[in-house]
Amino acid sequence: MSSEIIHVLGAGLVGPLMAIYLARKGFQVNLLERRPDMRQTGVSGGRSINLAITARGWKSLEEVGLKEAVSAISIPMKGRMVHDIEGNTSLQPYSQNPGEVIYAASRGLLNIMLLNEAEKYPNIRVVFDRRCTSFDPDKNRLTLQDETGEHTEEIETKTVIAADGAWSAVRKEMLARVENFNYSQSFLDYGYKELVIPPDAQGQFQMEPHALHIWPRKRYMMIALPNTEGSFTVTLFYPYEGKDSFAQLRTREAVAEFFNQVFPDAVPLMPTLQEDFFANPTGALVTVKCSPWHIDGKSLLIGDAAHAIVPFFAQGMNSGFEDCAMLNSLITDSHPDWGTVFDTFTRLRKPNADAIADMAVENFIEMRDSVTDPHFLLKKQVGFELEKRWPGKFIPRYSMVVFRPDIPYADAKQRGSLQDDILEQLCADITSPEEVDWALAERLLLGAEPVPV
Ligand SMILES: Cc1cc2nc3c(=O)[nH]c(=O)nc-3n(C[C@H](O)[C@H](O)[C@H](O)COP(=O)(O)OP(=O)(O)OC[C@H]3O[C@@H](n4cnc5c(N)ncnc54)[C@H](O)[C@@H]3O)c2cc1C
Repeated sequence: MSSEIIHVLGAGLVGPLMAIYLARKGFQVNLLERRPDMRQTGVSGGRSINLAITARGWKSLEEVGLKEAVSAISIPMKGRMVHDIEGNTSLQPYSQNPGEVIYAASRGLLNIMLLNEAEKYPNIRVVFDRRCTSFDPDKNRLTLQDETGEHTEEIETKTVIAADGAWSAVRKEMLARVENFNYSQSFLDYGYKELVIPPDAQGQFQMEPHALHIWPRKRYMMIALPNTEGSFTVTLFYPYEGKDSFAQLRTREAVAEFFNQVFPDAVPLMPTLQEDFFANPTGALVTVKCSPWHIDGKSLLIGDAAHAIVPFFAQGMNSGFEDCAMLNSLITDSHPDWGTVFDTFTRLRKPNADAIADMAVENFIEMRDSVTDPHFLLKKQVGFELEKRWPGKFIPRYSMVVFRPDIPYADAKQRGSLQDDILEQLCADITSPEEVDWALAERLLLGAEPVPV
């Protein structure tokens, strides 16, 4: 077992998983979290209450032996249940292949499960109420404070892995210290508000539980994911300002009128709508890109600290879990050259993080608007047929991102765009899959004709 102590910052979703991977390799790990222990204080608000786990996330959970336990707190969702303005619903499956579904899980339960698992390892020490306020790579020194800010502590460390989230303290430090550090943060003009559809009087789900519900309304949308105890967490994604916006929803009457008008089938299921609307904060949606992700072999950013993305492909946590798996695979001996490991990790991972960040922003338009567009739906059907006729040659982009961890995000993005060109050509002048020119499809797919980029 290596005697080197690695400090992992942040015991959100990614930090504990990274700590577990490192402990399994034999390292001593100190996992430092700014908040108090959520198992004692309860889960605090903030990010989404539940989230979707997809294949990339499962792969990592399986590698550390947590797949079964997490499955037990997850609900499979086989597709998007689209609610139109009249309250009619239709299911759009995520895939035509058996088993290709995504899973809803409680963020709090998942976080607690990861913390409990981390604490089973004798070589992981989890310390709460320790906020990193700075990291000095020249002196190998981390400065930590408790929540009151009254007690400051300095510790020597050679290796820091920062999983301290979208507003990472270590990244802030890199911005100040690292020459030519690239940094961008871009906020959508939209915020999000969490609401709830509780279970019915018998404790049962009030809607189909095995689906991700969407109320697409072109410029904005509402979604709902199931929770194991029979409720749904509902999220409204809505512009901050302008004609239809949060700025217009200042009174209970305005909220009631808006929801009755645009989400009429959901209103009877939401008895605490007005209370929740004003009690819950409006969250921001940010994409953060930066580089480099490391300072020599001293510190490395992972998860949201390296690449925060908007939630419309449900890949923020999943990509953070994939970071952990990849970093783990690059650590091949007990005294690694961290500089080389961190550099290789950044080089391999950054193009993929950028690709999923871009695809996540694009997917917002798909979810709030395209899912009701006949041309989009036709392309989706034709895409499924191409996949059936030429398996492996055509894989829908959604499937590559969500169900195929063997396909890196950057490849999924590039291949997805080539495939979209093919779909556009095949669907240009038709209204049903029966009209597709399959001979042309074969030529395009098998490369007999060049695919225009
Ligand atoms: C509305 C919404 C819905 C989402 N849905 C999904 C989804 O369905 N699927 C999905 O994969 N992703 C989803 N995400 C993204 C997901 O929440 C994040 O990608 C994920 O939480 C990132 O994990 P992390 O550990 O990197 O960061 P975090 O979960 O933010 O954890 C960071 C931790 O670091 C701690 N910390 C912060 N600063 C310090 C410091 N200075 N010192 C010590 N500790 C510190 C924090 O207290 C926290 O515990 C969603 C996000 C949002 C906003």
